Amino acid sequence: MLKICLNAVAPVHNGIVKGLKGLLVTPFFRPLETITKPENESDVFKLFLDFFSKPRIRGGVHAEQNKAQTATQNIVYQFPLPKKLYIPLQQHVGKPAEPLIRVGDNVLKGQLLAYSQGLISAPVHAPSSGVILDVNDYPAPHPSALPIRMIVLETDGKDEWLETHPVDDPFQLTPEDISLRVGAAGIVGLGGATFPTAVKLNMGRENQIDTLIINGAECEPYLSCDDRLMQERAEQIIDGVRLMLHGMVTESAVVAIEDNKPQAYLAMQAAAQPYPLIKVLQIPTRYPMGWDRQLIRYVTGKEVPVGCRSSEIGVTIHNVGTAHAVHKALRYGQPLVSRVITVSGGAVAKPMNVEVPLGTLISELFDFCQVNMEQTARVIMGGPMMGDALPHAGLPTVKATSGVLALTQDELKNTDEQPCIRCASCISVCPAGLRPLDMANNIRINQLDVAVDLGLKDCISCGCCSYICPSNIPLVQYFKYASGEVVARQQAQHKSEQTKRLIDDRNARMERIARQQREEELIRIAAKAERERLKAQQETLV
Ligand code: SF4
Ligand code: SF4
Repeated sequence: MLKICLNAVAPVHNGIVKGLKGLLVTPFFRPLETITKPENESDVFKLFLDFFSKPRIRGGVHAEQNKAQTATQNIVYQFPLPKKLYIPLQQHVGKPAEPLIRVGDNVLKGQLLAYSQGLISAPVHAPSSGVILDVNDYPAPHPSALPIRMIVLETDGKDEWLETHPVDDPFQLTPEDISLRVGAAGIVGLGGATFPTAVKLNMGRENQIDTLIINGAECEPYLSCDDRLMQERAEQIIDGVRLMLHGMVTESAVVAIEDNKPQAYLAMQAAAQPYPLIKVLQIPTRYPMGWDRQLIRYVTGKEVPVGCRSSEIGVTIHNVGTAHAVHKALRYGQPLVSRVITVSGGAVAKPMNVEVPLGTLISELFDFCQVNMEQTARVIMGGPMMGDALPHAGLPTVKATSGVLALTQDELKNTDEQPCIRCASCISVCPAGLRPLDMANNIRINQLDVAVDLGLKDCISCGCCSYICPSNIPLVQYFKYASGEVVARQQAQHKSEQTKRLIDDRNARMERIARQQREEELIRIAAKAERERLKAQQETLV
């Protein structure tokens, strides 16, 4: 699909640009921000080729930022300890953790509450000291609020740590030991993916990664917890990055930060100064720059093939918050029991970034930040683009909770849906290179197979298409629904195939038994006939 893109080329070089004005270019071409101005005329031709040959950003939108409310204030560390913490056993990708405590047990902060199961899983630790009140099903921090297993901890107010065992020099540990300690600390991707970090470190080592990308893009509007963490904890994050490099036996890292965070960029650059193999790179502010494939494409120029992991092309990505958690685990022996969360939105009187123990109820966070619930039209966990709308605020924060928003009606997109005007804006902004309009049309008439053929499974639910649509068509909602439906149908089909196989197996078994019985009967009849023949023969002889 072609789109007129005049401004994207204008300032590259006046001599060339005059001839290019009005040229039709695809939105996949490398944007202006990624190009440095040429030093001399001889560089211009190279630059021209570079511009048209290396697509670095695909699609995306310039969403309203709304970060200033929280990005300019220090992180608040004085959150009052909640009376009760609701700690889900599943706060990560993979199998839920298995509890090893009992109701009535006294626990200390950082004590192991539930151990990881299987290869992809993560343990869960006590976010504070207190007594275990319950291990039972409670509503999940999810749009469905369906019940999941949680440990309820009544805090004792002392917030007393279990004795920790930090290592004097973690760089003396073997890379395998680094992974083991990161895994034991329950660290998962804090950018929202929640993939166990130790598993990623192991994959990085096994695939001989050459580039570690640290994701400091934080492209979601409203969120600024990573921004503040980079400004206030830059040295600790760089230390975490170095430990990750050691754990993956990799030499170089790139910290990618959107250019709307100049203070964070400067702080990280200063912290990385002594380590020439750690580069800090400013990247354009455009949602979703933080999507791993977009970031890899921009930073390395490499494309992750569909169905492959980034480690297969020599790259792995971790979030800045994860690097900070790795630093705390290896330098102080502290497991992941708290995180910094952005609380923002039009209904919040005191928007802020605040560190809270995992398992804190959103309602308590809202009380602390003085949220007006009457003005709150929607509660969102995460950012407004990819976050989950929650049914109420009585749900706990988890390792994936980067932000909690209380949005007013004015902040929500107009939902007055109009017919499609075929403007193709949804196609030009899709970072995955899909055709949202065609996919939605097929989903509407229940042609899910066609939608899958059009790339439904590659949709990352970024919401760019819905955001840009002038007809307010909730495209991303169609894709979320259809993806769920496809999975449900696949599961149903798998189940019916399994049932059919069981029935076929049973029929085959019954047939085999019947055949055996028939054969045994025939043998019996033959034996009887033989016996009678012999008997008759003997009688004749007598
Ligand atoms: S952006 Fe909306 S109106 Fe435009 S083509 Fe896509 S669905 Fe239709
Ligand atoms: S939600 Fe899916 S289809 Fe829409 S822009 Fe994002 S990746 Fe493309």
